[in-house]
Amino acid sequence: MNQQLIDRIVGEILEKLNLPVASATTLPTNAFPIAVSARHIHLSQEHVETLFGKGYELTKKVDLSQPNQFAANETVVIAGPKGSIERVRVLGPARALTQAEVSFTDAFKLGVKAPIRESGDIAGSAPFTIIGPNGSLNLEEGLIIAQAHIHMEPKDAARLNVSDNEFVNVEVDGTRPVTFRKVKIRVSDRYRLEMHIDTDEANAGFIGQGAIGRIIRPGEETSPVDAKEEIREILVNKQYLFKKKLLSRDDLRDIEETEIIIEKGTIVTALAYDVARELGKSISVRQ
Ligand SMILES: [Zn+2]
Repeated sequence: MNQQLIDRIVGEILEKLNLPVASATTLPTNAFPIAVSARHIHLSQEHVETLFGKGYELTKKVDLSQPNQFAANETVVIAGPKGSIERVRVLGPARALTQAEVSFTDAFKLGVKAPIRESGDIAGSAPFTIIGPNGSLNLEEGLIIAQAHIHMEPKDAARLNVSDNEFVNVEVDGTRPVTFRKVKIRVSDRYRLEMHIDTDEANAGFIGQGAIGRIIRPGEETSPVDAKEEIREILVNKQYLFKKKLLSRDDLRDIEETEIIIEKGTIVTALAYDVARELGKSISVRQ
């Protein structure tokens, strides 16, 4: 056995022992993290069985930031009159309605005119085809471009002075600063504070995982200086120096920075590498 393999096995064992995790960085009080949603699909249990087989149940690949939501191991092909997209990730658990959330670029590739909608609001949305290993479905509706939104708990809504279903403007600082308009506030006990945008929106603003946004009020075109400085500091400080002996999947989830620097002897578990890839984070050894 080579050393790398031994380290990996040791890492997996240590991960099972549930070692303490690194503490997460805190955000300015008026800011929130932004997560970029890649194209994905939610399926009803009936459609899960049509696509994957009778009695089939989705299997969890990785937990998502919103409580009880997960990315499944399963993927499907989605298709329209002009093209298809392979390996579209299924998110679980199964829902009442089947719905695919794609970017404008994806919809163009498929050759459909998808409307911008809030998740769950699919009446009259675009038709599309789903192909699974065991069968396919031609749906009359269900393909949408997700409306940018911010999930939050009631306590966050109180702090940010917003209410459920309200639309706000959000400023994101960075290399190519952008302001999003018509961002929907969604408040529920079941949510965790996080803004969701799609890949087109993220690409427009050079927004990667770990970016943060801030609500701006009409007339308040730029941030107050102090808040802006604080945001800039976090964006510039994108590197996280990890000093412990073992970098586990849980540590990785708690680190908000996109570049993780480890010491020479630090062991990284295979699961941590998987999650890093999933979240678009890099892990490199300190020189
Ligand atoms: Zn969302």
